[in-house]
Amino acid sequence: MDDELAVRLKAYEGRPAAVAGVGKDPVNAPMIRHWCEAMGDENPAYRGPEAVAPPTMLQVWTMGGLSGHTGRAQAYEELLGLLDDAGYTAVVATDCEQEYLRPLRPGDEVTFDTVIESVSPRKTTRLGSGHFVTTRTDVRTGTELAGTHRFRILKYAPAQRKPRKESRPRPVINRDNADFWAGVAEHRLLIQRCTVCDTLRFPWLPGCTTCGSPEWDTVEASGEGTVFSYVVMHHPPFPAFDPPYAVGLVELAEGVRIVSNVVGVPYDKVRIGMPVRLEFRRYDDELVLPVFQPMPQGVAG
Ligand code: ZN
Repeated sequence: MDDELAVRLKAYEGRPAAVAGVGKDPVNAPMIRHWCEAMGDENPAYRGPEAVAPPTMLQVWTMGGLSGHTGRAQAYEELLGLLDDAGYTAVVATDCEQEYLRPLRPGDEVTFDTVIESVSPRKTTRLGSGHFVTTRTDVRTGTELAGTHRFRILKYAPAQRKPRKESRPRPVINRDNADFWAGVAEHRLLIQRCTVCDTLRFPWLPGCTTCGSPEWDTVEASGEGTVFSYVVMHHPPFPAFDPPYAVGLVELAEGVRIVSNVVGVPYDKVRIGMPVRLEFRRYDDELVLPVFQPMPQGVAG
Protein backbone atom coordinates (compact mmCIF):
# COMPACT_ATOMS: atom_id res chain seq x y z
CA MET A 1 0.00 0.00 0.00
CA ASP A 2 2.76 2.39 1.04
CA ASP A 3 4.91 1.13 -1.82
CA GLU A 4 2.15 1.76 -4.29
CA LEU A 5 1.71 5.27 -2.96
CA ALA A 6 5.46 5.87 -3.10
CA VAL A 7 5.48 4.97 -6.78
CA ARG A 8 2.56 7.26 -7.51
CA LEU A 9 4.19 10.13 -5.60
CA LYS A 10 7.52 9.61 -7.34
CA ALA A 11 5.78 10.04 -10.70
CA TYR A 12 5.19 13.71 -9.87
CA GLU A 13 8.90 14.48 -9.78
CA GLY A 14 9.80 16.74 -12.68
CA ARG A 15 6.22 17.79 -13.30
CA PRO A 16 5.36 21.48 -13.27
CA ALA A 17 3.84 23.23 -10.24
CA ALA A 18 3.58 26.61 -11.99
CA VAL A 19 4.10 27.44 -15.64
CA ALA A 20 4.92 30.81 -17.13
CA GLY A 21 4.10 32.69 -13.93
CA VAL A 22 4.45 36.44 -14.14
CA GLY A 23 5.46 38.68 -11.24
CA LYS A 24 2.57 40.98 -10.31
CA ASP A 25 4.82 44.03 -10.32
CA PRO A 26 8.14 44.69 -11.94
CA VAL A 27 11.08 44.92 -9.55
CA ASN A 28 10.58 48.36 -8.05
CA ALA A 29 12.16 50.88 -5.71
CA PRO A 30 9.21 51.32 -3.29
CA MET A 31 9.04 47.62 -2.45
CA ILE A 32 12.83 47.53 -2.06
CA ARG A 33 12.68 50.53 0.27
CA HIS A 34 9.92 49.02 2.42
CA TRP A 35 11.77 45.72 2.62
CA CYS A 36 15.03 47.42 3.62
CA GLU A 37 13.22 49.44 6.28
CA ALA A 38 11.50 46.37 7.66
CA MET A 39 14.78 44.42 7.74
CA GLY A 40 16.85 47.34 8.99
CA ASP A 41 19.15 46.88 5.99
CA GLU A 42 20.94 50.12 5.13
CA ASN A 43 23.24 48.75 2.45
CA PRO A 44 23.76 51.60 -0.06
CA ALA A 45 23.70 49.09 -2.93
CA TYR A 46 19.92 49.03 -2.56
CA ARG A 47 19.44 52.79 -3.01
CA GLY A 48 19.90 55.39 -5.70
CA PRO A 49 19.97 55.30 -9.48
CA GLU A 50 22.26 52.23 -9.64
CA ALA A 51 20.24 50.28 -7.06
CA VAL A 52 19.90 46.52 -7.19
CA ALA A 53 17.25 44.61 -5.27
CA PRO A 54 18.45 42.71 -2.19
CA PRO A 55 19.01 39.16 -3.47
CA THR A 56 17.00 37.71 -0.58
CA MET A 57 13.92 39.53 -1.95
CA LEU A 58 13.86 36.94 -4.75
CA GLN A 59 10.57 35.40 -3.66
CA VAL A 60 8.95 38.82 -3.16
CA TRP A 61 8.69 39.29 -6.93
CA THR A 62 6.92 35.99 -7.54
CA MET A 63 4.49 35.81 -4.63
CA GLY A 64 0.81 35.66 -5.52
CA GLY A 65 -0.50 37.84 -2.72
CA LEU A 66 -4.07 37.59 -1.46
CA SER A 67 -5.53 37.22 -4.94
CA GLY A 68 -3.53 34.07 -5.64
CA HIS A 69 -0.91 32.87 -8.06
CA THR A 70 -0.80 32.98 -11.79
CA GLY A 71 0.09 29.94 -13.79
CA ARG A 72 -0.37 27.35 -11.07
CA ALA A 73 -0.31 23.88 -12.61
CA GLN A 74 -2.69 21.04 -11.90
CA ALA A 75 0.03 18.54 -11.01
CA TYR A 76 0.93 20.21 -7.73
CA GLU A 77 -2.70 20.34 -6.56
CA GLU A 78 -3.08 16.68 -7.55
CA LEU A 79 0.02 15.71 -5.60
CA LEU A 80 -1.20 17.49 -2.46
CA GLY A 81 -4.63 15.89 -2.93
CA LEU A 82 -3.06 12.44 -3.18
CA LEU A 83 -1.17 13.04 0.06
CA ASP A 84 -4.33 14.33 1.77
CA ASP A 85 -6.23 11.22 0.70
CA ALA A 86 -3.46 9.01 2.10
CA GLY A 87 -3.94 10.67 5.51
CA TYR A 88 -1.07 13.15 5.30
CA THR A 89 -3.43 16.04 5.88
CA ALA A 90 -1.18 18.40 7.82
CA VAL A 91 1.43 20.61 6.24
CA VAL A 92 4.40 22.54 7.50
CA ALA A 93 7.00 24.50 5.57
CA THR A 94 10.39 23.17 6.59
CA ASP A 95 13.05 25.10 4.73
CA CYS A 96 13.91 27.23 1.77
CA GLU A 97 17.12 27.58 -0.21
CA GLN A 98 17.91 30.30 -2.70
CA GLU A 99 20.61 30.72 -5.30
CA TYR A 100 21.33 34.07 -6.93
CA LEU A 101 22.70 34.22 -10.46
CA ARG A 102 22.33 37.84 -11.44
CA PRO A 103 21.09 40.93 -9.65
CA LEU A 104 17.55 42.19 -10.18
CA ARG A 105 17.11 45.92 -10.74
CA PRO A 106 14.11 48.25 -10.62
CA GLY A 107 12.23 47.88 -13.89
CA ASP A 108 13.05 44.20 -14.40
CA GLU A 109 9.97 42.16 -15.29
CA VAL A 110 10.05 38.79 -13.58
CA THR A 111 8.70 35.49 -14.87
CA PHE A 112 8.96 32.12 -13.25
CA ASP A 113 8.40 28.41 -13.61
CA THR A 114 8.10 26.02 -10.72
CA VAL A 115 8.80 22.33 -10.91
CA ILE A 116 8.15 19.57 -8.40
CA GLU A 117 11.77 18.63 -7.86
CA SER A 118 11.42 15.76 -5.44
CA VAL A 119 9.00 13.84 -3.27
CA SER A 120 10.78 11.98 -0.48
CA PRO A 121 10.07 8.44 0.65
CA ARG A 122 7.98 8.27 3.78
CA LYS A 123 9.88 9.77 6.72
CA THR A 124 9.07 9.73 10.37
CA THR A 125 9.54 13.02 12.17
CA ARG A 126 8.60 14.28 15.59
CA LEU A 127 5.50 15.87 14.06
CA GLY A 128 4.39 12.62 12.52
CA SER A 129 5.26 10.60 9.44
CA GLY A 130 4.90 11.99 5.96
CA HIS A 131 6.61 13.02 2.75
CA PHE A 132 8.81 16.01 2.03
CA VAL A 133 7.88 17.79 -1.19
CA THR A 134 10.48 20.09 -2.71
CA THR A 135 9.62 22.57 -5.43
CA ARG A 136 12.14 24.64 -7.37
CA THR A 137 11.18 27.99 -8.81
CA ASP A 138 13.39 29.42 -11.54
CA VAL A 139 13.07 33.19 -11.62
CA ARG A 140 13.92 34.92 -14.90
CA THR A 141 14.10 38.35 -16.40
CA GLY A 142 13.68 37.97 -20.11
CA THR A 143 15.49 34.75 -20.91
CA GLU A 144 18.09 35.15 -18.19
CA LEU A 145 17.94 33.12 -15.02
CA ALA A 146 18.15 35.53 -12.09
CA GLY A 147 17.90 32.98 -9.31
CA THR A 148 16.32 29.82 -8.04
CA HIS A 149 14.19 29.30 -4.99
CA ARG A 150 13.76 25.86 -3.48
CA PHE A 151 10.92 25.43 -1.06
CA ARG A 152 10.31 22.31 0.99
CA ILE A 153 7.20 21.28 2.84
CA LEU A 154 6.35 18.24 4.91
CA LYS A 155 2.91 16.78 4.30
CA TYR A 156 2.31 14.57 7.30
CA ALA A 157 -0.15 12.64 9.39
CA PRO A 158 -0.10 14.30 12.80
CA ALA A 159 1.28 11.97 15.47
CA GLN A 160 -1.16 11.03 18.19
CA ARG A 161 -0.03 12.90 21.24
CA LYS A 162 -0.07 11.04 24.49
CA PRO A 163 -1.91 13.11 27.05
CA ARG A 164 0.83 14.36 29.31
CA LYS A 165 0.56 14.96 32.95
CA GLU A 166 -0.05 18.64 33.34
CA SER A 167 3.28 20.25 33.93
CA ARG A 168 4.64 23.74 33.78
CA PRO A 169 5.38 25.06 30.32
CA ARG A 170 9.01 24.53 29.31
CA PRO A 171 11.19 27.53 28.62
CA VAL A 172 12.07 28.04 24.97
CA ILE A 173 15.85 27.60 24.97
CA ASN A 174 17.67 28.95 21.94
CA ARG A 175 21.16 30.13 21.06
CA ASP A 176 20.41 33.59 22.45
CA ASN A 177 19.51 32.40 25.94
CA ALA A 178 21.09 28.94 26.28
CA ASP A 179 23.78 30.21 28.68
CA PHE A 180 21.13 31.73 30.91
CA TRP A 181 19.43 28.35 31.28
CA ALA A 182 22.80 26.62 31.73
CA GLY A 183 23.32 29.03 34.64
CA VAL A 184 19.93 28.18 36.11
CA ALA A 185 20.85 24.50 35.97
CA GLU A 186 23.84 25.36 38.20
CA HIS A 187 21.65 27.51 40.44
CA ARG A 188 23.22 30.73 39.18
CA LEU A 189 21.16 33.64 37.89
CA LEU A 190 23.27 35.20 35.15
CA ILE A 191 22.74 38.70 33.85
CA GLN A 192 24.16 39.67 30.47
CA ARG A 193 26.66 42.53 30.40
CA CYS A 194 27.74 44.41 27.30
CA THR A 195 31.54 44.26 27.17
CA VAL A 196 31.67 47.51 25.17
CA CYS A 197 29.57 49.85 27.34
CA ASP A 198 29.03 47.72 30.49
CA THR A 199 25.24 48.00 30.32
CA LEU A 200 23.53 45.10 32.06
CA ARG A 201 20.56 43.56 30.34
CA PHE A 202 17.81 41.16 31.24
CA PRO A 203 16.07 39.23 29.74
CA TRP A 204 18.82 37.97 27.47
CA LEU A 205 19.09 39.49 24.02
CA PRO A 206 21.50 39.04 21.11
CA GLY A 207 22.64 42.68 21.22
CA CYS A 208 23.11 45.58 23.60
CA THR A 209 20.04 47.82 23.80
CA THR A 210 22.26 50.81 24.55
CA CYS A 211 25.11 50.58 22.04
CA GLY A 212 24.05 47.69 19.77
CA SER A 213 27.18 45.63 20.37
CA PRO A 214 26.77 41.84 20.11
CA GLU A 215 29.68 41.26 22.53
CA TRP A 216 28.79 40.27 26.06
CA ASP A 217 29.81 38.45 29.17
CA THR A 218 27.83 37.71 32.31
CA VAL A 219 27.50 38.85 35.89
CA GLU A 220 26.05 36.53 38.48
CA ALA A 221 23.18 38.10 40.38
CA SER A 222 23.68 38.33 44.14
CA GLY A 223 20.10 37.12 44.51
CA GLU A 224 18.82 40.12 46.41
CA GLY A 225 16.05 42.27 45.07
CA THR A 226 12.78 44.01 45.72
CA VAL A 227 9.32 43.60 44.29
CA PHE A 228 9.08 46.40 41.73
CA SER A 229 5.54 45.46 40.72
CA TYR A 230 3.28 42.43 40.78
CA VAL A 231 -0.04 41.03 39.67
CA VAL A 232 -2.14 38.34 41.30
CA MET A 233 -3.41 35.84 38.77
CA HIS A 234 -6.96 34.62 39.36
CA HIS A 235 -8.15 33.97 35.84
CA PRO A 236 -7.75 32.43 33.32
CA PRO A 237 -6.48 29.23 34.90
CA PHE A 238 -3.53 27.58 33.12
CA PRO A 239 -2.70 23.88 33.41
CA ALA A 240 -0.12 23.26 36.13
CA PHE A 241 -0.78 26.60 37.79
CA ASP A 242 -2.99 26.87 40.81
CA PRO A 243 -4.58 30.31 41.10
CA PRO A 244 -4.52 32.69 42.80
CA TYR A 245 -0.77 33.26 42.76
CA ALA A 246 1.52 36.27 42.62
CA VAL A 247 3.65 37.06 39.59
CA GLY A 248 6.27 39.59 40.52
CA LEU A 249 8.47 41.93 38.57
CA VAL A 250 11.53 41.80 40.78
CA GLU A 251 14.20 44.46 40.58
CA LEU A 252 17.52 42.81 41.29
CA ALA A 253 20.18 44.57 43.35
CA GLU A 254 22.16 44.90 40.10
CA GLY A 255 19.38 47.07 38.65
CA VAL A 256 17.74 44.82 36.05
CA ARG A 257 14.26 43.34 36.45
CA ILE A 258 13.02 39.79 36.11
CA VAL A 259 9.50 38.37 35.95
CA SER A 260 9.12 35.48 38.34
CA ASN A 261 6.93 34.03 41.05
CA VAL A 262 6.97 35.35 44.57
CA VAL A 263 6.65 32.25 46.71
CA GLY A 264 6.63 31.34 50.38
CA VAL A 265 4.14 34.09 51.18
CA PRO A 266 0.36 34.26 50.70
CA TYR A 267 -0.48 35.85 47.35
CA ASP A 268 -2.30 38.72 49.05
CA LYS A 269 0.69 39.60 51.23
CA VAL A 270 2.97 40.49 48.33
CA ARG A 271 3.71 44.21 48.27
CA ILE A 272 5.62 46.65 46.08
CA GLY A 273 8.98 47.36 47.67
CA MET A 274 9.04 44.02 49.54
CA PRO A 275 12.65 42.81 49.87
CA VAL A 276 13.04 39.36 48.34
CA ARG A 277 15.74 36.79 47.85
CA LEU A 278 16.38 34.42 44.99
CA GLU A 279 15.96 30.70 45.31
CA PHE A 280 15.90 27.91 42.79
CA ARG A 281 12.81 25.75 42.94
CA ARG A 282 12.50 22.36 41.30
CA TYR A 283 9.09 21.85 39.67
CA ASP A 284 9.63 18.42 38.13
CA ASP A 285 12.38 16.12 36.86
CA GLU A 286 13.37 18.54 34.12
CA LEU A 287 12.39 21.96 35.33
CA VAL A 288 14.16 24.25 37.78
CA LEU A 289 13.18 27.92 37.87
CA PRO A 290 14.48 30.98 39.68
CA VAL A 291 11.81 32.29 42.06
CA PHE A 292 11.80 34.79 44.92
CA GLN A 293 11.01 34.49 48.63
CA PRO A 294 10.43 37.39 50.97
CA MET A 295 13.50 38.13 53.09
CA PRO A 296 13.01 36.96 56.67
CA GLN A 297 11.91 39.82 58.92
CA GLY A 298 14.83 41.51 60.56
CA VAL A 299 17.23 40.62 57.78
CA ALA A 300 15.50 43.00 55.40
CA GLY A 301 16.48 46.49 55.40
ZN1 ZN B 1 26.62 48.24 25.01
